[in-house]
Amino acid sequence: MTATRTPGLPAIENGLLISTNPASGAEAGRVPVADEAAVAEAVTVARQAAAWWAGLGFDGRKARLLRWRAVLADRIEELGELALLEGGKPVTDGVVEAAAAIEHIDWAARNARRVLGPRRVRSRAMVLEHSGHLEYQPYGVVGVIGPWNYPILTPIGSISGALAAGNAVVFKPSEYTPIVGQWLVDTFAEAVPEHQVFQAVHGLGEVGGALCRAGVDKIAFTGSTATGKKVMAACAETLTPVIIEAGGKDAMIVDADADVAAAAEAAVWGGMTNAGQTCIGIERVYAVAPVYDAFVAAVVDKAGKLRTGEEIGPITMPKQLDIIKRHIDDALDRGGEAVLGGRDSVQAPYVAPTVLVDVPEESSAVREETFGPTLTITKVADADEAVTKANALPYGLGGAVFGKANAIRIARRMRSGMVAVNSALAFVGNANLPFGGVGDSGFGRIHGDDGLREFARSKSVSVRRGPSLIPAMTFERTPAQVRRLIKTVKMLYARKR
Ligand code: NDP
Repeated sequence: MTATRTPGLPAIENGLLISTNPASGAEAGRVPVADEAAVAEAVTVARQAAAWWAGLGFDGRKARLLRWRAVLADRIEELGELALLEGGKPVTDGVVEAAAAIEHIDWAARNARRVLGPRRVRSRAMVLEHSGHLEYQPYGVVGVIGPWNYPILTPIGSISGALAAGNAVVFKPSEYTPIVGQWLVDTFAEAVPEHQVFQAVHGLGEVGGALCRAGVDKIAFTGSTATGKKVMAACAETLTPVIIEAGGKDAMIVDADADVAAAAEAAVWGGMTNAGQTCIGIERVYAVAPVYDAFVAAVVDKAGKLRTGEEIGPITMPKQLDIIKRHIDDALDRGGEAVLGGRDSVQAPYVAPTVLVDVPEESSAVREETFGPTLTITKVADADEAVTKANALPYGLGGAVFGKANAIRIARRMRSGMVAVNSALAFVGNANLPFGGVGDSGFGRIHGDDGLREFARSKSVSVRRGPSLIPAMTFERTPAQVRRLIKTVKMLYARKR
């Protein structure tokens, strides 16, 4: 028997990755680990399946994707239970996550033709003799590399767009959540048994690296910024395009005319759902002076009622516990105050809800992704100071604003890919809205029209429909025709307005 145990990482025995529950340590299941050859083979199989899948056209794919989403909806409780069994996630959180994923599959299936289908585009005066035609063709095989924190919704954001656009998908789930990943693949095969359009390859980080180098046509990566850079470097070798959905340090701004109770409720949920292990989780709050005290009191009251082991599940990755502890300690060492929780909040595998105030902006609790059920709340003079502080980090994923008169203006000024006004995280559930970040939070989009277009390349076709009035694109043009061209350009473009 061969067993590999790297501290903090799931064990591999006899070529099988063993997934365990982070709270109980109970085994959730085993999956075979892919080596480089197995990854290459999966991509070869996917390429054949991709030809069939693309050939089905939008209607054929829509019918099959809707069948898959029906299977998921039918078995949503089972999926919630599996997320609990493997990730320790409260069942209700798993069900909410699955519901959002189902919504995205439905949306992608129903909207792919509208967004990607063939269309005529208008010609311009200079080339009136050619009609313009545009369509979006699938890449072929898309590799999807997913994280563990939202093992259903996050990969499905990419997978649903990639499949609806006509690609086959090879999916590398996180080593912490391979069983959920395999379940998604298996249920898809129930709905679409003809070809292996959607496969999984399992293993540690190097399997993701192998997928980047296996000749896929695009990679959609979701995970940490550090790993995103490695993925991009690997993809650069073959000029494989990538989408990077990376981490964040999302801020909430609470303005003077905000509904303070609603803001506190959203800050607590946005910061502590999934035990704070949320890329778009609220980690920092900037509250203006007039509402600051009432807001802090409301947050402490609401967060203080959450129970570890109930609403607050375990921290999935053991090494994350050290990061959370370091952030709390650093905040307190630098003069911050814990108004809820404190240095002893971290009790492996749980972290109790923790609220920190007066934390200097240079501290790691404010600058780095904590990924635990912690919030920093900072008093600011006004919304301008809040925006400046919120925008001061290299990250720029999501954000939130609570207020009335100026809330949307403030939202626009936040340097982020998404922002929720008078709620937290709401943009992720609206399948019409693109999802993605700026700066260290990555680039490219999933969800919405932009998300669908990420998984297809535009194909432009111009078709001659008559002789050229001003033949410019030929060696056979005459001096008189060039003079006519100059005259036309001046007529069309020489005016000042
Ligand atoms: P990681 O970056 O550790 O891992 C993400 C995935 O990449 C995993 O499947 C991992 O495999 C794989 N991987 C690791 N090393 C390599 C490599 N060298 N080449 C290719 N693939 C590799 O992220 P986490 O799983 O820890 O996820 C949490 C992070 O994800 C947080 O920063 C969070 O903010 C971010 N995130 C971003 C979201 C967004 O949409 N912007 C959504 C959700 C999370 P393995 O696990 O086997 O190492």
